[in-house]
Amino acid sequence: MYRRDSDELQAARAQLVSYSARLLADGLAVGSAGNMSVRAGGIVAITPSGIGYDDMRPDDVCVVALDGTQVDGLETPSSETPMHLAIYAATSAAAVVHTHSPEVVALSAARSELPAIHYAITGLGGPVRVAPYVRFGSAGLAAAAVAALDGRRAVILRNHGAVTYGRDLAQAYDRALLLEWLARTYRLALSYGEPAILSAAELDEVTAETRRRRYGERRGPRP
Ligand SMILES: [Zn+2]
Repeated sequence: MYRRDSDELQAARAQLVSYSARLLADGLAVGSAGNMSVRAGGIVAITPSGIGYDDMRPDDVCVVALDGTQVDGLETPSSETPMHLAIYAATSAAAVVHTHSPEVVALSAARSELPAIHYAITGLGGPVRVAPYVRFGSAGLAAAAVAALDGRRAVILRNHGAVTYGRDLAQAYDRALLLEWLARTYRLALSYGEPAILSAAELDEVTAETRRRRYGERRGPRP
């Protein structure tokens, strides 16, 4: 049991380092802004506070218990550790990505929701809510994020950034990229005037069709 946990944790450390480098390359973060975590059984591997993503090594990754107690790592865990832990407690998340990506931050200051101008938003559970502003690193921010995540896999934090989660770090990260793309696309659409928004029924139809196709793929012969 211990051995398996240890392998899982090592993989989580390596993943967090490689995705940290991607955060910069993909324009989702500058310096050491934002943070990511992976849940491995009863513990959470999380990026440290204040270390530039370019300089991060697997040993810098911090390990905390689900109650927030640090169990490994010489560095200080991310200041948003309470928010990550609250999301693990409230959802099925196995990985959480928090960014300060520019399109999302811009939208967060001007809108209360990212509406559905493209059907890909069904991948996030539908229109993405903007949670009220609460200071970084606070229990209040963690609670606001969890409340606005209800039925969603993404939340935008007013005047701050965004959080996405997934069944693994790859999925959580892809959702962060999708969210940033959707925010950018919405801003571009606004430049033409008032954009058409997909209705709840249209989004439900997309979700049903996506499920049907996935189900068919799993049952059908492999190409
Ligand atoms: Zn932040």
